[in-house]
Amino acid sequence: MPTLIENGTVIAWDGDCHRVMEPGVVVFEGNEIVFVGETYDGDVDITIDATGRLVIPGFVNSHLHLTDTPFTKGYQEDVGSPSGPSGYQNYVALYKMLPSVRKASDPEAQYAAALCALAELARTGSTTIVELGYDFEIGGDGDIAITERIAEIIGETGLRCYSGPRFRTRFYGADSKGGVFYEDYPNGARQRFEDCVEFCRSWNGRYDDRLRTMLAPGQIDTCDAQLLKDTRRYADELKIPIQIHAGQSPFEFSRVKQTEHKTNVEYMMETGLLGPDFIIGHGQFMSDGGDVATMAKHEIAALRDSKTTVCHLPWVKARRGGVINSIQKYHDLGIRQSLGTDNYPLDMFNEMLTAAVVCKIVEKSAVAALSQDVFLMATVGGADALGRPDLGRLAPGCKADIVFVRIDTPKAAPVYDPFKFMVLAATGDDVDRVIVDGKTIVDDGKVLTIDVPKAVQQVNEASRRVWGRLDF
Ligand SMILES: [Zn+2]
Repeated sequence: MPTLIENGTVIAWDGDCHRVMEPGVVVFEGNEIVFVGETYDGDVDITIDATGRLVIPGFVNSHLHLTDTPFTKGYQEDVGSPSGPSGYQNYVALYKMLPSVRKASDPEAQYAAALCALAELARTGSTTIVELGYDFEIGGDGDIAITERIAEIIGETGLRCYSGPRFRTRFYGADSKGGVFYEDYPNGARQRFEDCVEFCRSWNGRYDDRLRTMLAPGQIDTCDAQLLKDTRRYADELKIPIQIHAGQSPFEFSRVKQTEHKTNVEYMMETGLLGPDFIIGHGQFMSDGGDVATMAKHEIAALRDSKTTVCHLPWVKARRGGVINSIQKYHDLGIRQSLGTDNYPLDMFNEMLTAAVVCKIVEKSAVAALSQDVFLMATVGGADALGRPDLGRLAPGCKADIVFVRIDTPKAAPVYDPFKFMVLAATGDDVDRVIVDGKTIVDDGKVLTIDVPKAVQQVNEASRRVWGRLDF
């Protein structure tokens, strides 16, 4: 039952990079792409007209949170903490507001949050999502049944997902003056880890292999060395990736130095985390001051040679007044990079725009973070971090994860360079069809697998409950 997509401008993968093919055709059968080229003469059952559309590989959004996210909207922004851990960045959001939101939520609220987030992700062209989950902030004995229910919700949307329920040794918070404190979980931390491993073991490959699992130790500063070593051991055994938050704040960087007597990169090296299946979420503060080029030579070599991926989340940084210094430097050092949206908006176009523009400003250069390189991070970068040469690309043998982007609009026309349009001008609203695993889940801009008005209504109701319980 082959399906032919014709008359579009195709972003085809040539084995080394994305190339524009105009006009181009894509043919897929079942969940797999069987042909990408200029014309196709074979028999097909279904033909989809892509006139006025870019036909692109779906984004691999390699770091995001389905839960919590809606309840932080409007709370986290434009709020500073001059007396907190950093004078210029809003870390009160990270250390104080996020824990409070999680504590104030309940399982039903988190399911509503997840469904709403999934609708936005599907609508804006993220076909593979890497979700770092959370159950409860305080207590350490989060019920894995909540993680399982969220995995079911994800599975039912038709999206492709790597789900990583988080675990850690200790939690953090901030006092009324913004001072950060850490506290070991009184009980349950080890049980939570074992439950997460069991979840990863038993849920990997469900939903026709659209759902895969990942080990996700919460943050570099909340995990002791033994937990990280065990994480590596189980990841190798289960053959699944690992993702951690690291380089997220200057406070975290100095905390690791203080407690482990090494830098965060050295700590990850020592515990065996680095590798081609390992993703560092954030990677902003990997040295004093945050300039990547000032990392020690042995740290740069370790990240590069191990093929570790740094997943950047530039928007959440930028809106707090922070910058990654820089994506271009990482690129020039030969360190693998990907892109994720973190909390909201969950729109990879917005993330690509921010990644490119912030990098150009930091480097004071128009030729930093070129559009084609940023698009590569948003697709192949994430796919490679997951060990998936069959994702993030339009080529025979790849999964049929395909997104249509409208270019028949005043904003887009005329399209001289599709990469520059996508990175520097497009938004998720320009997406009008999304195919995952060979099935259309968004058509004419409408998500077919989610009752979106109901999801919005549910999350509005849940937010009133959560905000009513918030105690900052
Ligand atoms: Zn995150």
